[in-house]
Amino acid sequence: MNIAIIGAGAAGMAAAITAAASGEHRVILLERQARVGKKLLATGNGRCNLSNWNAAEQHYHGASPDFVRHALNAFPVQSTLDFFQTLGLYTVTESGGRIYPYSDQANSVVDVLRFALVRRNLELKLGCEVVGVKKTEDGFLIRTAEEQIPADRLIIACGGAAGTKLGGGLSGYQLLRSLGHHCTKLYPSLVQIKTDTDLVRSLKGVRANAVIRYELRKSLLARAEGEVQFTEYGVSGPAIFDLSRMISTAGEGELHLDLLPTMSNDELLSTLCIRISRYPTMTCEDLLTGILHNRLGRTVVRASEIPLTQALTSLNWKQLTKVVELCHDFPLQVNGTMGMENAQVTAGGIVTQEFDPKTLQSRIVPELYAAGEVLDVDGDCGGYNLQWAWSSGRLAGELRESEAQRR
Ligand SMILES: Cc1cc2nc3c(=O)[nH]c(=O)nc-3n(C[C@H](O)[C@H](O)[C@H](O)COP(=O)(O)OP(=O)(O)OC[C@H]3O[C@@H](n4cnc5c(N)ncnc54)[C@H](O)[C@@H]3O)c2cc1C
Repeated sequence: MNIAIIGAGAAGMAAAITAAASGEHRVILLERQARVGKKLLATGNGRCNLSNWNAAEQHYHGASPDFVRHALNAFPVQSTLDFFQTLGLYTVTESGGRIYPYSDQANSVVDVLRFALVRRNLELKLGCEVVGVKKTEDGFLIRTAEEQIPADRLIIACGGAAGTKLGGGLSGYQLLRSLGHHCTKLYPSLVQIKTDTDLVRSLKGVRANAVIRYELRKSLLARAEGEVQFTEYGVSGPAIFDLSRMISTAGEGELHLDLLPTMSNDELLSTLCIRISRYPTMTCEDLLTGILHNRLGRTVVRASEIPLTQALTSLNWKQLTKVVELCHDFPLQVNGTMGMENAQVTAGGIVTQEFDPKTLQSRIVPELYAAGEVLDVDGDCGGYNLQWAWSSGRLAGELRESEAQRR
């Protein structure tokens, strides 16, 4: 059988290696970029958080999050690590069950996959963009700028729209739609959030551990906890990424940051009162010094409409309680996300009900498969998206006879 796979990213490479393993079939892997796994190289800040021990359907989103169940059961985390170990990659587990290559380098992951693609029955075509696919009587005809490639089975693993500079785009959705599939609305997820910049601009580079509430018209839509990074356009960091899917899909609204989640109002008030009585000559510039990052402390004081030059001893009760209130509820108006270009993953994609979750074969076109981010599946931050790419890629690449062949 001739098996064609479009896209040499995480899912496409996993599918190609799996499909070529028996040596019985001809596999052709088509990649439009000059090298394989370009996006993979940028993952996990160049470290590649390739999986997570907690990978299970509750960490995935889409119209049917349980769609991932079969692929994750068929190719769970341990089997993924065994697969990589066979390819020569050693891994290490960090906090939260996050799994990284032992080398700490994303290129190790790409390298071992690249080595495994060199097989007699596997042809890799780089710089080869697929511009169209057609169902024929006995299979598929795949159109590139230079040629038409026939295939008996086609696996589309073109990834999603996120991370445009790293190869993200709409091509996979277009190819699958041309074969009769449907696509949901697409949103950026695991992405930085734009906010009012009046206060945050001066905080560029500051990090804080916070509990964050995301509210829309006064109702609480989501909550996250962890590191927030302030930037010139708004906020970033793991806790913000956790909220970004909801913000992307629900719209604007407000973030409320509890910058001192482990300190009660009373504790904070008494700490500030001690400071005022102990240092009568100090100004409000240093009211929160030693409690929050200096720049963040000054920002909270300014947001309380207290001049930084005001003497600590002249602070009135109303001003003090305002500072305490803002430490526990620092509001930021959301002005959108940093978009698909900067997003790590696409929320939405090709409708999963149109695929059999046990095989990833299309229910519309026999012998057509899809894997990875192109489908309406997106995971939380922490290695879940790559685990989906590996599991779905391997499931799609598994060689089982289709109903059509058996008949
Ligand atoms: C900056 C960044 C950091 C990330 N970090 C992590 C992380 O640490 N952990 C994690 O789990 N996830 C992470 N992700 C998400 C993860 O990288 C993706 O979810 C995953 O790569 C999706 O795999 P895929 O194979 O479906 O798509 P991709 O890896 O995007 O691969 C698709 C491939 O198809 C090719 N292609 C597309 N169209 C065509 C065409 N018409 N013809 C030929 N080739 C085509 C593309 O060039 C690309 O190489 C990150 C994403 C980004 C952008």
